[in-house]
Amino acid sequence: MDDCLFCRIVAGEIPATTVHETPAILAFRDIDPKAPVHVLVIPKDHHADVASLALADAGLAGELLAAAAAVAEAEGLRGDGFRLLFNTGGHGGQEVAHVHAHVLGGAPLGPMLC
Ligand code: IMP
Repeated sequence: MDDCLFCRIVAGEIPATTVHETPAILAFRDIDPKAPVHVLVIPKDHHADVASLALADAGLAGELLAAAAAVAEAEGLRGDGFRLLFNTGGHGGQEVAHVHAHVLGGAPLGPMLC
């Protein structure tokens, strides 16, 4: 999608700091990190949100989760724990309509991220 920010990152039109990549998945650092480690994990194909992705392609949804786990491992977050977050839709606070998992960690995050 031409007007999708994250599709433009996938296409290389907007720079990003990539930390993990597979043929179907890209993970890059959030431009405005909310924790010492804040990585966004996305499918390269455009799906609006996690519900749309899961309904359209459960296999790719599984790949996204596996990639998020790999990022957490590579970033050294497995031992102390981390947060995996999908903001979904307007009430969920989703600002970019291309499904993305937030991998957050590196410090205690408290019971809830608002
Ligand atoms: P959302 O609110 O769940 O949609 O999260 C969107 C995230 O994308 C926010 O954490 C933003 O800081 C992040 N973001 C926006 N533009 C960019 C960018 O160009 N590169 C990396 N992250 C971005």
